[in-house]
Amino acid sequence: MMKHTELTLHFVKGVPRDLAPGVLYVSMEYGTVVHSCCCGCGHEVVTPLTPTDWRLTFDGETISLWPSVGNWNLPCRSHYVIKNNRVAGAEFWDKARIEAEQKRNKTAKAKFYAQSAEPILPEQCELPQLAAAVPTRNMPKGLWAKLCRLFG
Ligand SMILES: [Zn+2]
Repeated sequence: MMKHTELTLHFVKGVPRDLAPGVLYVSMEYGTVVHSCCCGCGHEVVTPLTPTDWRLTFDGETISLWPSVGNWNLPCRSHYVIKNNRVAGAEFWDKARIEAEQKRNKTAKAKFYAQSAEPILPEQCELPQLAAAVPTRNMPKGLWAKLCRLFG
């Protein structure tokens, strides 16, 4: 059972050392959300916002986090969904399901970071038409700098 079913939002720069229960600390500076476990056990739960971890939706008043928060590494092993500041308990996951999810997450991360490490191809750059229309080899240096300023 969840002790905290409704969370209060706190937008913070840095995350405080002592977390108040029932408060969702959102730090855009560090791209992370931290809260004290909603089951009431008091453990700190960190949900980093990255393309392969959690994503946050802010509607101007409330926050939703997706996917669900699974505290598999905490003694309580609680699992819940935060939607519009409300906490809804989710089903208990057995060991096999947790391991499958951890494996999926690891693969997704490896795939994502391998992709973003690839160099940007000319056709993906900001000035596709210009780059094609003006041979950069023959372009005066000053003009190139001007273009960079214009589009940069
Ligand atoms: Zn807990």
